[in-house]
Amino acid sequence: MTRPVFRFAPSPNGQLHLGHALSALLNRDLARAAGGRFLVRIEDIDPGRSKRGFEAQIFDDLAWLGIDWEKPVRRQSEHLHEHRLALDFLNRRGVLYPCFCTRGDIRAASSAGPKDPDGAPIYPGTCRHLTAAERAQRISRNEPYVLRLDMARALSFLRTPLVWTESGDGETEQEVEADPGAWGDVVLARRDVATSYHLAVTVDDAAQGVTHVVRGKDLYHATSVHRLLQEMLDLRAPVYRHHRIILGKDGKKLSKSDGAESLRVMRGTGMAPADIRRLLKL
Ligand SMILES: [Zn+2]
Repeated sequence: MTRPVFRFAPSPNGQLHLGHALSALLNRDLARAAGGRFLVRIEDIDPGRSKRGFEAQIFDDLAWLGIDWEKPVRRQSEHLHEHRLALDFLNRRGVLYPCFCTRGDIRAASSAGPKDPDGAPIYPGTCRHLTAAERAQRISRNEPYVLRLDMARALSFLRTPLVWTESGDGETEQEVEADPGAWGDVVLARRDVATSYHLAVTVDDAAQGVTHVVRGKDLYHATSVHRLLQEMLDLRAPVYRHHRIILGKDGKKLSKSDGAESLRVMRGTGMAPADIRRLLKL
């Protein structure tokens, strides 16, 4: 038996709020109860929005909450070569294709069509039908492109139904059937950086030996895509636990740009870490 490995993986693009505190504390508490390891990973693949200043504040807020974690932390931006290797592997399996569509192209072609689980229009597959010669020509003309997963082709490789183990908010584990097809041909490498959320999270969880992914329910449906990538890349699947989402006073999901429920603001009003735990009913 290897020790269970948990992780908290924030993006350094704003202040941590109560929702992050719930995730971080849950992960740390569960790791401790299981005699496992607790890691922090910095998800900084978005070069336009990630700031080292926010990263320092994240560490400061976590330490204030009484959380300790293994060092050094993994920054996703320092592991792009590993994401590249995974892309190359998928490419050799023939499940990637370049998409040259602009946002406007996609909106125009898909606005009336089906939506993905997040409510965004599903990519209509325009560039899937380009010939190899057309692709090569457009790439040689330096047209910007993203790499998309050919979902139907990827699904055709599966020999057994795709499932994951979910422990939800409680302690009972159940098997959930994954439905990656609901997302269509997702982007795996963006124009500005040759990776994506889905690819980076899958590769990095495996690289860090994460056995338990504990995160908000807002990522429940994305797990289907992560399970498919794990199968395609021959990676071990962790156990998943998607916890409740903390809502703001307006009943909406907290966002990093709000500020109102940020831990920094709460600390400023004289709240103690124990108050945060009480608020979170931990
Ligand atoms: Zn396209």
